[in-house]
Amino acid sequence: MLQVEGEVIERSAKNPKMTTGDIELSAKKLTVLHEAEVPPFTIEEQSDGGDDLRMKYRYLDLRRPPLQRNIILRHKMAQAVRRFLDGEGFLEIETPYLVNSTPEGARDFVVPSRMNPHQFYALPQSPQTLKQLLMVAGYDRYFQIVRCFRDEDLRADRQPEFTQIDCEMAFVEQEDVLEVFERWAKYMFSETLGIHLTEPVRRIPWSEAMEKYGSDKPDLRFGMEFSDLTDLAQGHGFSVFDDAEYVVGFAAPGCASYTRKQIDGLIDFVKRQQIGAKGLVWIRLDSDPAQADTPGGAAVKSSVDKFYSPDQVRAMAERCGAREGDLVLILCGPRMKTLTQLSALRLEMAEQLGLRDPHKFVPLWVVDFPLFEWDDETKRYYAVHHPFTSPKPEDVPLLDSDPGRVRANAYDFVCNGTEIGGGSIRIHDSALQAKIFSLLGFNDEQIASRFGFLINAFKYGAPPHGGIAFGFDRLCSLFGGSESIRDYIAFPKNNAGRDVMLDAPGSLDPEQLKELEIKLG
Ligand code: ASP
Repeated sequence: MLQVEGEVIERSAKNPKMTTGDIELSAKKLTVLHEAEVPPFTIEEQSDGGDDLRMKYRYLDLRRPPLQRNIILRHKMAQAVRRFLDGEGFLEIETPYLVNSTPEGARDFVVPSRMNPHQFYALPQSPQTLKQLLMVAGYDRYFQIVRCFRDEDLRADRQPEFTQIDCEMAFVEQEDVLEVFERWAKYMFSETLGIHLTEPVRRIPWSEAMEKYGSDKPDLRFGMEFSDLTDLAQGHGFSVFDDAEYVVGFAAPGCASYTRKQIDGLIDFVKRQQIGAKGLVWIRLDSDPAQADTPGGAAVKSSVDKFYSPDQVRAMAERCGAREGDLVLILCGPRMKTLTQLSALRLEMAEQLGLRDPHKFVPLWVVDFPLFEWDDETKRYYAVHHPFTSPKPEDVPLLDSDPGRVRANAYDFVCNGTEIGGGSIRIHDSALQAKIFSLLGFNDEQIASRFGFLINAFKYGAPPHGGIAFGFDRLCSLFGGSESIRDYIAFPKNNAGRDVMLDAPGSLDPEQLKELEIKLG
C-alpha cells in the first residue's frame, strides 16, 4: 500500500478506456504505508481464485470491481427503499433479535441464556409477530431492513441469515398493500436501473399460475403456457395416458427441428431425480410441406403415432397453440406433481432458447393463495403463508366443510421466476384466529404458550392490518443480474452454512459451556 505525492499532468499516451486515462502523476515522493504480501489470487474483474479460496479471503475478493459494484448497488438500493417508504409515511422501527420462536415454518437458530440457565432465545425467522404488535401500538406504517434467521438447507439463493425489507400497515385491505408496493417496485426499477415500467403489474390467481405455468412463481419473460390435454389424450388405447390423472403439454416455439439426440436429452432431463417424470411424449409440427399429411398443412409426427391418428395428434398440438415449426412436449401423472415437472421442463426450454434474458424484467403479483396445504405424512394442515394470514371472507364458511379449498388474502411479488416478496392481510379477530389455530392442530396450551402475547394484545383493540416482506438480497441479485445472492452480501456463508473466513461456527471453551450450564453429548 503506497502513498504517492506529485503533480497531476496530462498523459502523453492517453487511454480512453480508463476514466483517469487522460492524466498521470509525476511522482515526487513515495511512502510505503503498509507492506503487503502477494494475494492468493488475482484481484481483477475475473479472478483466477476458486470459490473456497476467495471466500476464505473475502476481504480481498471484495476488492474486485464486480463485488465493489454489487456492494455499491446494494447500498443505493437500501437508500432508495428508505427514501420511498419515508416519503409514504412509514417509520423505520427496530425489533429485537433475541426473541422466541417466530412462525415462519423453518427451524430456529437458538442462543443459550447465561442469566436464565437452561433457557434459550430463538433468533427471529422474521419480525412477523413484532410488527403486528406495532400495529396494535398505533404505529400505522412500519418498515425495517432487517436480518432474519432460518435454519434451512442452503441453495444458491438461500442463506441462513438474510435480509428482508419488512413492512406492515394498519387500516388496510389487500388492495392498499398491493397499490403501495407496486409503486414502490416501479420506483426501485426506475431509480436503480433506469427502467420505467408503465403498465400495471399483472395479477394472476395462484390456481391459474399453477395451471398455466406449473409454478407459483412463473417466469413471464416468455410464453409456453400449458394446456390440459387429458380429454383429448384419453380413450385411444394408450394406457400411459389412460391411467394418468392428468395429461398436460406446451409448445416450444421453433423446436420442431430438434434432433433425436436433443429430444433424448430432454427425455433424460425430465427423468432426472429432482424432476422425476417417467417419460416424455413429443409432437413435432414440421414446416416441410413435402412431409405434410394434409395438403397445405404441416406434417405431424409424434412419439405416440402408434396410438393416435394424425388428426388426433394434431388436435393435441393445436390445443397447445402450436404452430408450424413447433415441438409439443407432454407429461402425464398426478396433477400437481405433473404440473411441477412440466414447469421444470418449461424453464429448461426457455434456457435452451435463450429466453431468460437477465436484462428483461417481468414482475407480477400472484394472489389468492390457498390458506392451508395438507401434508400426507403428518396428516394435518399447514399454513401456506403463516398462521396469522386471513382467509378470504367469502371462503370462511369452507373452513368447516373443506379447509383445503379456502383461499387466503395472501400475495407474492414475483419477477423472472423468483419470489421477491410475500405478504398477507392478517386476522385481527380473536375467534377466527382461534379457529385457524385449531385447524392447524394447535391445542389451547400450545396456543397460549406460543402466541398468548399476541392474542392478549389483540384484546386491547387491533386494527385491520396487513403487510409484506421482500427478500432484499434476492432483489439485489435480480437487479444486478446474478443468480447468486452471495454476490450481494459482503460476508456470506457457504453451502454448509459456514463462514470459512471466520471459521464459524466454532466450538466453545469448557469455561463458557460451564457458565451456560451446557453439557455436550
Ligand atoms: N413474515 C412474512 C415472511 O417472512 C412476510 C409477511 O407476511 O409480511 O414471509
